Amino acid sequence: MSNSLLPDLPPLPSALRRAARVFYNAGFQLYLVGGAVRSLLSGRIPEDYDLATDAVPQEVMKLFRRVIPTGVRHGTVTVLFNGYQFEITTFRTESTYSDARRPDKVHFGVDIETDLSRRDFTINGMALHVLDGTLLDPFGGREDLQRGIVRAIGDPSRRFREDALRVLRAVRFATQLDFDIAQQTRAALFGQGASLRAIAAERIRDELNKMLLADRPSYGLALLRDAELLTAVIPELHACIGVPSGTVADSGFDVFAHLLECCDLMRPRELELRLAALLHDIGKPMCFTRNSDGTISFPEHAQRSAELAHQALGRLRYPNATVSAVSHLIARHSLHYGADWSDAAVRRLISEAGTKYVYGLIDLRRADQVTKRHTRDAELLDALRARVSATLARGDPITTRDLAVNGDDLAEVGIARGPQMGALLERLLSDVLQDPKRNQRDWLLERAQELNRFGSWP
Ligand code: ATP
Ligand code: MG
Repeated sequence: MSNSLLPDLPPLPSALRRAARVFYNAGFQLYLVGGAVRSLLSGRIPEDYDLATDAVPQEVMKLFRRVIPTGVRHGTVTVLFNGYQFEITTFRTESTYSDARRPDKVHFGVDIETDLSRRDFTINGMALHVLDGTLLDPFGGREDLQRGIVRAIGDPSRRFREDALRVLRAVRFATQLDFDIAQQTRAALFGQGASLRAIAAERIRDELNKMLLADRPSYGLALLRDAELLTAVIPELHACIGVPSGTVADSGFDVFAHLLECCDLMRPRELELRLAALLHDIGKPMCFTRNSDGTISFPEHAQRSAELAHQALGRLRYPNATVSAVSHLIARHSLHYGADWSDAAVRRLISEAGTKYVYGLIDLRRADQVTKRHTRDAELLDALRARVSATLARGDPITTRDLAVNGDDLAEVGIARGPQMGALLERLLSDVLQDPKRNQRDWLLERAQELNRFGSWP
């Protein structure tokens, strides 16, 4: 075991050092493990602190006043201390992964070295003593971290067979950290697609999310494709490989490459936009049409893509709000903006897309045009963005809530409540989007009564 003292790490929070003293004074050990060690060794302040100890959960619960029994059966508790949350797990080993998913049994009563050996990758198999700063690094994690390599601890095939989630974790860490995957570890990724089916959709989703929020998701998605794992994660995306993108059949640029490029272009922190970019053309394979003049087209592909995205994200157990937002954006992505658009057209776009999504929609379309090298269209979209900002800054009415009348006002002039009234408000909004000066109580009430009398308006 190589132990080394690390003098130049970013300082640990004093709350962590104080908590560590509580452990040591009671005769227990405490090590920082996992992502926090990676961050510190890379000179970054960790976002959260995973810790390992020889104390069992019951003993930890006696040491601190505020402890949440997060996963006592697996040895994990969360200690709330001086404004921090520390995830503390008892040293353990795991045995007999009969379903490639979860260990059937965990065993406590082992030492830190044994605990490190059950961990997935060398960069995750280090432990830092909280008080004296000693690093335990039995698998060469520090060197792999410096060289930028994700390497399984032990025999990669066996480790993936034990727990198939590690397959996705390997790709996810490589993507997040922009690391290579060591050759044998990478080779062992092959053929793991079938075992991924044993993994709960939520866990696949969580790994996918981390990949998508990285700077360059395309890197991880290409790794998944190369290891033939894409079908197990998002088969709809796999179906886009080899399908020509654009109007020329042999452009050499397929829908898959286009989607990856768009995804990279979206701002990194916005999951919904990244998902929308990744999936915005997944309906193209089924809409592929060869025209009589030799060109190709994809009629209705925005709608088809939105439907497929809805299915795929539902299957991956995304929250309903995410599924709706992403499908909403995708269904509208074939936005054809021209400098000749009237202000009313801009207002209608905002109203239809929703103020929450209109900028995202423009971003999505812009990425779409940039990857197709349609520079002029991308510039036009910048102009559209500026017009949308100006419209919103002016406070032009955009939704029925902005109208100078509401349902109560309409009821007062004798219009029956119900779905009809909702439709009537929408119709008034459409008049106001055309010309915001119409947003006056008198005009709207008169117009509502007229429409109501008239009866059969669209
Ligand atoms: P991050 O929190 O940034 O995603 P992390 O390395 O802290 O990265 P966690 O999922 O929080 O990852 O897990 C903490 C540690 O637990 C890992 O560093 C690793 O040592 C171990 N670990 C987690 N999941 C597995 C697994 N499926 N197989 C083996 N070890 C694992
Ligand atoms: Mg962690």
